[in-house]
Amino acid sequence: MSYNVNNKGYYGEFGGAYIPEMLYPNVEELRQNYLKIMGEPSFQKEFNQLLKDYVGRPSPLYFAKRLSAKHKTKIYLKREDLNHTGAHKINNTIGQILMAQRLGKKRIIAETGAGQHGVATATVCALMGLECIVYMGEIDIARQAPNVARMKMLGATVVPALSGSRTLKDATNEAIRDWINNPVDTHYIIGSVVGPHPYPDMVARFQSVVSDEIQWQLYELEGTTKPNYVVACVGGGSNAAGAYYHYLEDTEVKLIAVEAAGLGVDSGESAATSVLGKEGIIHGSKTLLMQTKDGQIIEPYSISAGLDYPGVGPMHANLYKTGRAEFISITDDEAMKAGLELCKLEGIIPAIESSHALAIFEQKKFKPNDIVVLSLSGRGDKDLDTYINHFKL
Ligand SMILES: *Cc1c(COP(=O)(O)O)cnc(C)c1O
Repeated sequence: MSYNVNNKGYYGEFGGAYIPEMLYPNVEELRQNYLKIMGEPSFQKEFNQLLKDYVGRPSPLYFAKRLSAKHKTKIYLKREDLNHTGAHKINNTIGQILMAQRLGKKRIIAETGAGQHGVATATVCALMGLECIVYMGEIDIARQAPNVARMKMLGATVVPALSGSRTLKDATNEAIRDWINNPVDTHYIIGSVVGPHPYPDMVARFQSVVSDEIQWQLYELEGTTKPNYVVACVGGGSNAAGAYYHYLEDTEVKLIAVEAAGLGVDSGESAATSVLGKEGIIHGSKTLLMQTKDGQIIEPYSISAGLDYPGVGPMHANLYKTGRAEFISITDDEAMKAGLELCKLEGIIPAIESSHALAIFEQKKFKPNDIVVLSLSGRGDKDLDTYINHFKL
């Protein structure tokens, strides 16, 4: 059994490309070209150079000594928080902007919820001098003013989505509509391992630089390329996909996926997609998603904007279904507490998404000699207001 994508674009029973007829040419053009383009030496050279000089890779693999002592195991943090723009998302947007250039595209569109992917996309568009249009729900525009300002400073046009609940899924619908109307000159940069094939596979490959680095960095530190566990939070699943990638088929390395339980898995205010989800189709792929009996998408809730997504990528749906990864749900309160603990013990203020992953040490016991690598997906600057309100700082 393989946990990677097959040549039809499926992970087990999940994935595929369930798209309207009018989107077919765009997706098919990408599908036919993405592996060939990614394999070109000139692409590899430019991608790796930008990851090094612009993003600041390799990101450190840091042995968190005081955190390890507290939880009586060996914890290594993969410091994606130190990347330019503050999270792992830039690995993917750099890859996709180079892909768009090779495909001759002049115009970039993206959707964003909290604004993090919008900022990462606006950044690479500025870097390459390409036009950038970011669709964002009207409610999210009001909630995420600093990220809207960042995108504008970077030269992007932010277009409000005015329909439905005026949040992420409505912004996605607007972006898809735009792509259908602009099939020739436009590339759609999707921000996680979601969407129709080949997006989940392409994004996972761009993010796989993370586990590629973990292998050699861990070898330098511990004399082995293999940790006992790799831990990551899961919204759509891209930082997890990157951290797992080179270990997917190696079942000696255990994978842990951490989802946001919000106010509690059974509270009705949650984003624990795999536990609560049923098979369905969202954003062009068959996966697990939170839906009512008659198939309406249930609005997810999490204190963390980046985990607040009603579906999960098809790779992760399959990791859940097959039991290859262990899924753990963490509530808002548990995550916030773990985030503050990292501040006090290690002098690192994590993104609240990453704080969910950190919270597993209160739930699950590891052996003293276990090597646990945890994807610290982003930094907490963007979350200061939430930390302030939560802890009355
Ligand atoms: C967007 C985001 C996430 C969630 O997205 P994935 O695709 O699941 O990785 C996690 N952490 C941070 C810091 C983010 O910005």
